Amino acid sequence: MKKIQMVDLNGQYQEIKEQVNTAIAEILETSAFINGPEVHAFQKELEDYLNVKHVIPCANGTDALQIAMMGLGLKPGDEVITADFTFAATVEVIALLQLTPVLVDVYPDTFNINVEAIEKAITPKTKAIVPVHLFGQCANMDAIMALAKKHNLYVIEDNAQAIGAKYYASDGTKYMAGGIGHVGATSFFPSKNLGCYGDGGAIFTNDDDLAHIIRGVVNHGMYERYHHDVVGVNSRLDAIQAAVLRAKLPRLNGYCESRRNAARAYSKAFEGQKHIITPKTVTHCEGICDICECHVFHQYTLRITNGRRDALVQYLNKNNIPCGVYYPIPLHRQKAYADERYKEEDFPVTNQLVTEVISLPMHTELDSEQINHITDMVIGFVNE
Ligand SMILES: *Cc1c(COP(=O)(O)O)cnc(C)c1O
Repeated sequence: MKKIQMVDLNGQYQEIKEQVNTAIAEILETSAFINGPEVHAFQKELEDYLNVKHVIPCANGTDALQIAMMGLGLKPGDEVITADFTFAATVEVIALLQLTPVLVDVYPDTFNINVEAIEKAITPKTKAIVPVHLFGQCANMDAIMALAKKHNLYVIEDNAQAIGAKYYASDGTKYMAGGIGHVGATSFFPSKNLGCYGDGGAIFTNDDDLAHIIRGVVNHGMYERYHHDVVGVNSRLDAIQAAVLRAKLPRLNGYCESRRNAARAYSKAFEGQKHIITPKTVTHCEGICDICECHVFHQYTLRITNGRRDALVQYLNKNNIPCGVYYPIPLHRQKAYADERYKEEDFPVTNQLVTEVISLPMHTELDSEQINHITDMVIGFVNE
């Protein structure tokens, strides 16, 4: 059996090696390292893939979130609602811009932000909602967009984990994740579903005016050379990263399918296990696609319900099966983001999930022998 890895970036590289190496060698010859034709071509290709009017590449996913908020003109003191159960980058940029983060609980089956909790948290100061499409599937965007419309709020999608996921709105419109809200942000960190070989990110929007503002913000607030109209940042994508992304983008749907196949094999093996809850895919595409494309499994995350999650992590690690706990501490309990406004009883689901979740190896190169071995080991241990 091949050595099991949490993510396998080398397997993918071997398939695109020639194309990537040639493209990088050309960039070295032309010395157009930042922005330039390669980045522009990638931008156009991603706009087509996501069916959004504007993609603005930037330096990483955290910047993408920050720039989206700057572009919307959010001001210190504005409240921004996001999920308690996510990677810290989301809340970090809210706090960094001196906006007020308002964390709310998530659903136990999809791990995504709880819409009733959002509604309860809305005040006259609320300006935006940041749903995180956690682990590879969209939050309940129908309900979130309706709520945003009712209360006149912006929706910024954190799509760092769900690029390539589809979303079928209740009115029948088919969206790609990240293209549903007023603005979307993603990351091309190497281990993400569409990863480059360094840092990278992008912002998406269908709003021409917002796209114009953001193009200036990413480049020191310049719309005309050496005229700085707004306070901006320096956040750009390297041509070398764009070349890697251009090689991978045409393969992204295939990568997503490989991940879904691995997830299906996992879930089938865990069927009927009384101490294991498998992740739920919300198949809002029912009857539209043959095989659900609503989940791209950035992570395959189980809940271990008999109190043995931590012991299982140790057992798997000891047996050379890597695994991860995403996320072990709720954001409302992190020192940097703790706030008097939060009460433990407002986060029953997140508080439980942090003790139960475990993410198994998930990438495009997993084979059935490896999956069988992993599931046998997990099942054997939790039933001991
Ligand atoms: C990875 C990630 C980010 C940040 O992306 P970087 O490119 O690492 O800055 C933001 N939000 C979520 C949910 C992520 O998973």
